[in-house]
Amino acid sequence: MTRQDSTGQITEAFQPRATSLRRALAILGDPWTMLILKEAFNGQRRFGGFQRALNIPRQTLSLRLAALCRDQMLYRRHVSAEHATLEYAPTAKALDLDQAMYAVWLWHQANPGDRDVLPFDIVHRDCGHVIGATFSCQRCGGAAGSASVSIRPSEPPQFDTEPRPRLSRRNDAAFSAAGSGAGDQMLAASLVGDIPCNEILWLLFQGPRNLLAIAGELALGVSVVRGRLDKLRALGLVHEERQGRWLIYSVLPRAEGFFPLLLAISAWGDRWCNAGQPPPEVIVHECGELLAGRHVCNHCGGWLGRGNLAVRPRAPRR
Ligand SMILES: [Zn+2]
Ligand SMILES: [Zn+2]
Repeated sequence: MTRQDSTGQITEAFQPRATSLRRALAILGDPWTMLILKEAFNGQRRFGGFQRALNIPRQTLSLRLAALCRDQMLYRRHVSAEHATLEYAPTAKALDLDQAMYAVWLWHQANPGDRDVLPFDIVHRDCGHVIGATFSCQRCGGAAGSASVSIRPSEPPQFDTEPRPRLSRRNDAAFSAAGSGAGDQMLAASLVGDIPCNEILWLLFQGPRNLLAIAGELALGVSVVRGRLDKLRALGLVHEERQGRWLIYSVLPRAEGFFPLLLAISAWGDRWCNAGQPPPEVIVHECGELLAGRHVCNHCGGWLGRGNLAVRPRAPRR
């Protein structure tokens, strides 16, 4: 049953059921990667600029930028014909992550103590308000939350044949130790960087489960799953309850704010990470239509996208 040893090494071939979330996280599932992309979304283009904004070690930044270029998320270009200086610009593939980026920002806005972690405002230009937003179904306009969205495997089921990316314990440590002061507080980014945590939340949004069911469905080692459940409980995202001889795990209300982020990343994975195959999961809104989710402005009701949003530094608090 257990197919990974305690260091997360795969000791035997196995294939978890495919999800676009996992495929997307093979690119995004690293805390620094999400932070670099966040900076790129805010207009950062230079190596030195990324380094100063994130207080990230040069070597780490170099490796991450190279990986992002390899994955066609960023591309190198010369600043101008006269300048030899290179800059890193986001591709259409990276910019298509916009709804996930808004979800990260909204998560931090909504969680007390986290607000100052992303010290900029996202303004809806159409109405002039700093966004409050609801992830919604573009077909019917209704909110897309865990109670109104169903997720099931497509037929025939697909399985992941790619080996899992190395588990990210070491990334976590490097991330927290980086001294940016944001390490522990960057909850959303740090969770996105922990692939099993995301996979477990994704499953629990589909319904409560026990430890062995989670490990079996994800083809992850029991000890890996147990460790991540402890982390998710400590973060106040997952609840443990004894039912007969089983401990049953379910998502807590605080986790609900994370669901749009997972939905947005999964949809991005459908578009960019499935090598032309149909999506491995069918995600349906309560209106009966396949979910095409997008954030809608709580102030004016307009759909949010890169064309009508602006980022501005936040005024200091008085
Ligand atoms: Zn709908
Ligand atoms: Zn608005």
